Amino acid sequence: MTQPKKKTTARKKGFRRAHHFLKTPGMSTCPSCHAVKPPHQVCPSCGAYNGKEVIKVELE
Ligand SMILES: [Zn+2]
Repeated sequence: MTQPKKKTTARKKGFRRAHHFLKTPGMSTCPSCHAVKPPHQVCPSCGAYNGKEVIKVELE
């Protein structure tokens, strides 16, 4: 196994890990029921996509 020539400093680790955070997912609203849903996906509350009902959503 090859070994690193220099120890990675805490400062360097910090710079590298500056990008290690979670981003909030993008959200859009359904045009038929106005529920918050992920974009480009069938609405989980009413089953509509592009203004038409494409899947049946059973109510609990
Ligand atoms: Zn909907």
